[in-house]
Amino acid sequence: MEKAQHILDTPIAYLKGVGPLRAELLQQELRIFTFRDILFHFPFRYVDKTKVHRISEIREEGQQVLLKGTLVSLEKVSMNNRRYRLTGLFKDASGFIELTWFQGVKWLEKSLKPGRQYSVFGKLSKYGSKKSIAHPEMEEIDANKASIQPQLSPVYPSTEKLNKRGLDAKARRKMIIEVFQKLKPRDIPETLPQYILDKIKLINRYEAIRDIHFPKSSESLKLATNRIKFEEFFMLQMRMLLSKKNRQSKLKGAIFGSIGEQFNYFFKNILPFALTGAQKRVLKEIRHDLGSGIQMNRLLQGDVGSGKTIVGLMTMLMALDNGFQCALMAPTEILAQQHFASIAESLEHMDIRVEFLSGSVKGKKRKLILEDLAAGEISILIGTHALIEDPVQFKNLGLAIIDEQHRFGVKQRSRLWTKNNDIAPHILVMTATPIPRTLAMTVYGDLDVSVIDELPPGRKEIKTIHRTESHRSKIISFMHHEIGKGRQIYVVFPLIEESANLDLQNLNDGYEQLLQYFPKPNYQISVVHGRMKAADKDAEMQRFVEGKTQIMVATTVIEVGVNVPNASVMIIENTERFGLSQLHQLRGRVGRGAEQSYCILMSSYKVSKEGKERIKTMVETNDGFKIAEADMRLRGPGNIEGLQQSGIMDFKLLNLVQDNEIIKVARHYAEQVIEDDPNLMKDANLPLKRAVMGMRNRIKDWGRIS
Ligand code: ADP
Ligand code: MG
Repeated sequence: MEKAQHILDTPIAYLKGVGPLRAELLQQELRIFTFRDILFHFPFRYVDKTKVHRISEIREEGQQVLLKGTLVSLEKVSMNNRRYRLTGLFKDASGFIELTWFQGVKWLEKSLKPGRQYSVFGKLSKYGSKKSIAHPEMEEIDANKASIQPQLSPVYPSTEKLNKRGLDAKARRKMIIEVFQKLKPRDIPETLPQYILDKIKLINRYEAIRDIHFPKSSESLKLATNRIKFEEFFMLQMRMLLSKKNRQSKLKGAIFGSIGEQFNYFFKNILPFALTGAQKRVLKEIRHDLGSGIQMNRLLQGDVGSGKTIVGLMTMLMALDNGFQCALMAPTEILAQQHFASIAESLEHMDIRVEFLSGSVKGKKRKLILEDLAAGEISILIGTHALIEDPVQFKNLGLAIIDEQHRFGVKQRSRLWTKNNDIAPHILVMTATPIPRTLAMTVYGDLDVSVIDELPPGRKEIKTIHRTESHRSKIISFMHHEIGKGRQIYVVFPLIEESANLDLQNLNDGYEQLLQYFPKPNYQISVVHGRMKAADKDAEMQRFVEGKTQIMVATTVIEVGVNVPNASVMIIENTERFGLSQLHQLRGRVGRGAEQSYCILMSSYKVSKEGKERIKTMVETNDGFKIAEADMRLRGPGNIEGLQQSGIMDFKLLNLVQDNEIIKVARHYAEQVIEDDPNLMKDANLPLKRAVMGMRNRIKDWGRIS
């Protein structure tokens, strides 16, 4: 049986003035297929039609101006290669201005009528004293329609192709008017429960969408956008909280009821320092999860050097004490190896079998590991993403720890769940990239979050300074000084992904230069970059870790996690090419021992405004959360590493940086609804239930974020 089609599902070809050709163009260019798509394709700005400029008074090149007056004449001017441009002379009471078009000449020539009144909107260009506007938006002023002309006129995103084919701003506005004439309020049903609308005074959905396209005033526009922003975040939170609930009810977790022998032995005899208050608190939170019978999904956030690894290790001991296996996954071979080396060493005197697995472990060795793992003879497996590949099967995986989440796709995370037959392993994700709170709620809304917000005692704040090429010789002597004290130094070059050759050359030049100042055999320099074989990389890295080399020249491959406490200087070349969070990660490679550490940010003299802002932020603060906030402000949340793929950042109106207040309120109400009516059974929540179900049908892979 075919269901009656909802009016919003009507193809746009049925709209007056569109037809099949233009419909196809709208599909190709803007992915507008149906009436619904038109409605939800919002204006990206509004022209304030209350402020009309006078031609004689506009001066500033590039200034956006709105003029009202008469189109005096129109002329098609031949250019070379058989192309034409269209020029028009336009006047108001104060003077004349030239209008020009290079695209869509044919159509414009037909549609623009000299002698008639227009409002003209565009950017002013000046050639000497001559003023002109290229590609202005034109709208005829119709005396009869004047009363319904909105004061705030919406401007829709468009493309050159669309403009060329006459689907310009004006035509788009006409389409929306057409659609609205066909709609009744009930065709845009409410999605939020009435009690929420009442409580926080939100306008209903129909009104909101109408007013976004046809705002009566800036106040009504504000009410409309706030309503939609609220809905956007609220619905996202509902989705996340429901998926969390769903998982919790379905996914039983292994119960690690007791703290046992191995944990206690480690705690009493091996742990070389006292845990910080934050580490203790986080361990308590984890212990609570592990004893609850529900699968743990916890994100552990902690700035670089805050001591996440030991928390991970002690969590593994809890699992072992309860008879389960553990996996620890790291994003790079080097990091995985380093974890393996330090954990194997820590557990040396305990009867715990720890093995390493990555793509580089092959042949007999690999086969043996896989067999022993399946037989339950290996307790802890440490490695790279090789751990989640198909042939790897555990006997009873109870806990999987993922270090440095951002390099790990969400999909990969969920593959861990298939490693056991009946019970999903507990999952602990550790990340050193602090995420601003609003963003954490967005991306990890379905995870529980623990934060280590305290560094181990005795750490000295890393001194960060900004230097340019003219300081080079001073820096070289500073390096000699530090090496003389027995310290080690990183020198990092940017990784230019589009141009691996240039990148390598940069690094090689730097290396050659350093060789002159730090000649063999008195000095040894390690070199590590992304294009080396894994084994060579590791060997080089290892020499540095063991103190056999004094300087490590590298690209950002060392960014994540590497721990060499004796290294006290981080020199970053071409600092302006790095993002803020990357710089912070790099800086976190030093300051890990008791010595005073330094981070020297090298840049050229000429740095963009944003680059300067990044450098300034780095010099001013060591606080990862502050840096994350600044990063989000500078680049916008969409650019934060790891989030693009998440596919959940495509809000139409909500701005994660600016709409803090709305985000907080929406999160609060979503939590309340779930607490009060987890299965959305109450009548009052019916609109919401329908909306969530509809969303599920439309967004097929909504579950992948969990
Ligand atoms: P990250 O959180 O960046 O992964 P690590 O776990 O690598 O940090 O820890 C950084 C360093 O701090 C390591 O050398 C670790 O042994 C040390 N460390 C961790 N916790 C403490 C503590 N409570 N007291 C002293 N040193 C600690
Ligand atoms: Mg770490």
